[in-house]
Amino acid sequence: MVRKILYILNDNKLTEFKRVRDKRSGWFIYFWQESFDNLPLVLEERRNWVIEKLESRMKYEEQNYFFQCKNGCEGRYVFIEAMDYNFICPVCQQGQLIEDQNEKKVQILKDSIIKLRNQN
Ligand SMILES: [Zn+2]
Repeated sequence: MVRKILYILNDNKLTEFKRVRDKRSGWFIYFWQESFDNLPLVLEERRNWVIEKLESRMKYEEQNYFFQCKNGCEGRYVFIEAMDYNFICPVCQQGQLIEDQNEKKVQILKDSIIKLRNQN
């Protein structure tokens, strides 16, 4: 378990290791060292990654019309998909697919992006 955690930290640039082969046993010995000085940089990279994902999702929400079943079935469809289903829910085969007003979702995404950008 400790090794697993060390590798996760290493993947995130928070540890470094040196590997030496033990001459007697032939096994590798690992010498680990923390590099937590990289933490601010790692967090900054992670934050930028999340902002990019949120922006991409926001654009997708803004540039598409979405449709959902009037009966509340699972599933959300972009316009072209809803058209392919003749605006009838493919799950229950009865409910009309009506537009999902996504202004609230877009606003939540916008607010989250602003909040993340302003964090320091
Ligand atoms: Zn339905």
